[in-house]
Amino acid sequence: MGKGRVYLVGAGPGDPALITVRGLELLRQADVVVYDHLVDRRLLAECPRGAALIYAGKEVDHARASQAAINARLIRSAKAGKTVVRLKGGDPFVFGRGGEEALALARAKVSYEVVPGVTSAVAVPAYAGIPLTHRGVSSSVAILTGHEDPAKPGGALRWDRLATSCDTLVCLMGVATLPAIATQLLKHGRAPSTPCAVVHWGTTAAQRTVSGTLKSIAADARQAKIKPPAILIVGQVAALRKQLAWFERRPLSGKRVLVTRSADRAPALAARLDALGASVERLPAIELVTVKPNGAFRDAVQAIPETDWVFFTSPEGIGRFAQLLKPYRKDVRWLSGCHIGAIGPKTAEAIESAGLHVDFVPKRFSQEGVLADLPRRVLAGKRALILSAEASRDVLSDGLRRRGMAVCKVPVYRTVVPRPFKRQVAAIFSRPFDAVTVTSASCVEHLHAGLSAAGKRSLFRRLPFASIGPVTSAAVRARGGRVAVEASVSTIEGLVDAIAGAAR
Ligand code: SAH
Repeated sequence: MGKGRVYLVGAGPGDPALITVRGLELLRQADVVVYDHLVDRRLLAECPRGAALIYAGKEVDHARASQAAINARLIRSAKAGKTVVRLKGGDPFVFGRGGEEALALARAKVSYEVVPGVTSAVAVPAYAGIPLTHRGVSSSVAILTGHEDPAKPGGALRWDRLATSCDTLVCLMGVATLPAIATQLLKHGRAPSTPCAVVHWGTTAAQRTVSGTLKSIAADARQAKIKPPAILIVGQVAALRKQLAWFERRPLSGKRVLVTRSADRAPALAARLDALGASVERLPAIELVTVKPNGAFRDAVQAIPETDWVFFTSPEGIGRFAQLLKPYRKDVRWLSGCHIGAIGPKTAEAIESAGLHVDFVPKRFSQEGVLADLPRRVLAGKRALILSAEASRDVLSDGLRRRGMAVCKVPVYRTVVPRPFKRQVAAIFSRPFDAVTVTSASCVEHLHAGLSAAGKRSLFRRLPFASIGPVTSAAVRARGGRVAVEASVSTIEGLVDAIAGAAR
């Protein structure tokens, strides 16, 4: 037998960040990952390239047949010497059939480990603002399955005992059987006025909670069109939600927000929006490509020792510029004699992390801002180099020239529409957004250009754009679009603040 092993890993209740450290560590080393349908796809992105990802999500009716196939698959892969992660929603040993899989592995003499997960039975109520136990209110909890129809005779659940034996009941897989469950509990003595809650897709951006009483909850859930996966909580603790529904009260809970930045810059913005509760979608409308150096670029590089000021108009500039210097056997030290100006704090941060000191950042983060704040007396008769995107505006170069500087502006990168954009557009806009973030004029231009003729005429005009500043807003309006919010400070933080402020 090889050194193969199976890890029965709990993926957590929904939010991918709720997997355990151990679980994530194993996922990152797996050769084979067999996952269920409630597992968030973002977790799969953590697996090594080349790992075999096998979907074992099963339709309820086929559960028995496919369970044998899953067991066989785990055993076969482990015997072939693979590190196998069996990734299951929540905790593997809470209604996850993890016990059956472990037994099959034990019988086949395959080595295995169980890595517990945060079960939805505990995490989902927590995210709905319902403590399962609470001093003076609830001292006991039962977790039960609603999968069996209580109306059918011969079931494994003793409703007569369950109804009143525990203060709090947490019922999984009970959407379809909710009316029958409520009927059983009432029949066996639970008070009709008992507070209840049903939570759909808890811990995720799609979380939705319906509150009611034992008497009303089945009708309430039906009216709210609650579908699986959902959890039913029965007991006085469900009433605490009125005060404790922290997750659903975050500033952007329930809001769908689009991030259109380039794939490498999107994560910082997406993470901030996500932290405020937004459901974030990404559609990169922009991709950066380093330019091919030409004669003008070479001349500019050679003139750097005589240059007084070098301006960067975006955070990408410094890295790309350093890359372009390499063929000349030079690096950022070549800028050591120049004053350095950055258009905003993020650009300054990028320059500083390349080891250079930034001499100037304007109060308003735009080309106009640079012109407004640079002391005039330092400029006349001096030489400036502007390193920017190919399509960037000439406001700064023209302005500096007017002030008597000799200005050279050379592009270090171009922005292009990413290839998959057109393919992704239709799907992503099939549901409405509460905000479409745009962080540069070229982002707007590409988004517009990527739409069909009909999309330009109708969709673009309807989108609620959230713009990083006046220049980007002007690009939206120039194409007939509507700026719903504009950041008062032109940074990612400013943009997120503006969106959150508008949602209040
Ligand atoms: N092993 C899992 C449970 C698997 S049974 C765990 O420990 O969480 C599947 C049931 O879990 C679903 O039908 C639903 O009742 C519940 N469930 C799982 N994830 C959920 C979520 N994010 N929100 C609401 N219910 C969830």
